[in-house]
Amino acid sequence: MEYKRSSALFAEAQKVIPGGVNSPVRAFKAVGGTPIFVKEAKGAYIIDEDDKQYIEYINSWGPMILGHAHKPVIDAVVEKAKKGTSFGMPTEIETKIAELAVSMVPNIDMIRFVNSGTEACMSAVRLARGYTGKDKMIKFAGCYHGHSDAFLIQAGSGAVTFGSPNSPGVTQGTAKDTLLARYNDLENVKEIILQNEGEIACIIIEPVAGNMGCIPPVAGFLEGLRALCDEHNILLVFDEVMTGFRLAKGGVQELLGIHADIVCFGKVIGGGLPVGAFAARKEIMSYLAPLGPVYQAGTLSGNPLAMAAGLAMLEELNAKDEIFTSLQKKTEYLHKGIAEVLTAANVTHQINRIGSMISVHFCEEPVIDFASSAKGNNDSFKKFFHGLLDKGIYIAPSAFETWFLSDALSYEDLDKTIQAVKEVAGEL
Ligand code: PMP
Repeated sequence: MEYKRSSALFAEAQKVIPGGVNSPVRAFKAVGGTPIFVKEAKGAYIIDEDDKQYIEYINSWGPMILGHAHKPVIDAVVEKAKKGTSFGMPTEIETKIAELAVSMVPNIDMIRFVNSGTEACMSAVRLARGYTGKDKMIKFAGCYHGHSDAFLIQAGSGAVTFGSPNSPGVTQGTAKDTLLARYNDLENVKEIILQNEGEIACIIIEPVAGNMGCIPPVAGFLEGLRALCDEHNILLVFDEVMTGFRLAKGGVQELLGIHADIVCFGKVIGGGLPVGAFAARKEIMSYLAPLGPVYQAGTLSGNPLAMAAGLAMLEELNAKDEIFTSLQKKTEYLHKGIAEVLTAANVTHQINRIGSMISVHFCEEPVIDFASSAKGNNDSFKKFFHGLLDKGIYIAPSAFETWFLSDALSYEDLDKTIQAVKEVAGEL
C-alpha cells in the first residue's frame, strides 16, 4: 500500500505532537488524507518514507530556489558544523552575509538577522512603532506575516486554511491596533488612513501576496501605497519572506521599482535553515538596541550554520543573473501547459503567476484579493491535489498557498507535471 510507512509515522506523531505536525498546513487537513513523511530530497525531487519519488513544487515553502541538498550549501554547513554550532558571540560570517544582502537589496543600509519570518515581521513592526511613535498598523486580509499575535487578524496561509484567521488567544487589546484592508484596493487603504489620521505607524504587506494563492499587485497599487505612506508619515514595510531573493536579487523592490522603508526576509536568506532578517536604511535601523531604544534580541540569531547556508545561497544567486531568467521561463512554460490542458478539459480556472511563483484557482473571476481567492472550488482543489500526488507531483496541500519552482526542475519534469494535470483534469 502506498503511504503505508507515512501513515504509521503519522499515527505515532499524533500521540506526541498536536495534529502530528509542527506547523498546521503540513497536516493535509484541508485536502484530507495522510501527510507524506519525507525521507530525503535532492534537486527537484523528494522521496517519501515509502520510497515514492515526487516532483516538488513546495520547496520548503520557497527557499530551495536552487533545489534540495544543493552541494555548495550543504558543503558550507558541514564545514561550519565541524567548528562548533552556536556561540552566542559575534562571528565574521554574519558581517559577510549582511554586506552581501545589503549590496543585493535596494534601499537598505543595515540588516539584523533573526530565526524565522515571524520574528522578522514582528520585530519590523516594533521598530516601525518605536521609530514613528505611533501604535497602529495596516495589514491586508489574506496576507500572512507569521504567527505573532498582531498578525493573526484575517491572516492567510494555514490560519485561513484551518478556519482561524482570527486566532483565539489574541487579546482585544492587541487586535485593536491591527487595521484590516483589502489587497489591491487603494481607496480602502485611503479611507482607513483618514479614519485613523496620525495614529498609523506602518503598512505591512506582501508586495506580491503568496499566502492566499499567488496574487501580484495590480498596476499602481504599490505605487499608491508608497505615496500614501509619504503623505501621512507612515512606514511601508515589505514582507519579502517569500519574494526576497526569489523574484529578483533585490526582491519586489527591484522587480517593480518600488522602495520600502523596512524589508522582512526569511527562509531564502538562510538557504533553508531557520533564518529571518529585517533591514532598512541606517536612520531607521539605528533605533534598534544596542544603538537605540527598540529592543530586539536572540540567542541563536546569526547562528553560524544558518549564516553559512544563507551565504552560500546568496552568493550563487548574486553571481548568476541567469537563474532568475531561467526560473521565469520555466514557470511561464508550466503556466502555459497547465492552462492548455485545463482549458481543453473545460475546467473553469484562473492561474496567477509572477516570476517563479504560481497558483491555480478553480473559479470564474480573476483572483485579486482574499475574497476572490476564497471563491475557489475546494472540492475541485482536493481532487486536483490528490490526483497529482498519486502521480508523483507534490504541490502545496491548500488552495491558499503558492507553488514555488526551483531551478533544479528540468523541462522533462515540467512536461510530466503538465501530463499529470491533463490526466487529473478529466476528473475535476
Ligand atoms: N511572511 C510571509 C510572507 C510568509 O510567507 C511566512 C511563512 N510562510 C512568514 C512571514 C512567517 O515565516 P516563518 O514561518 O518562518 O515564521
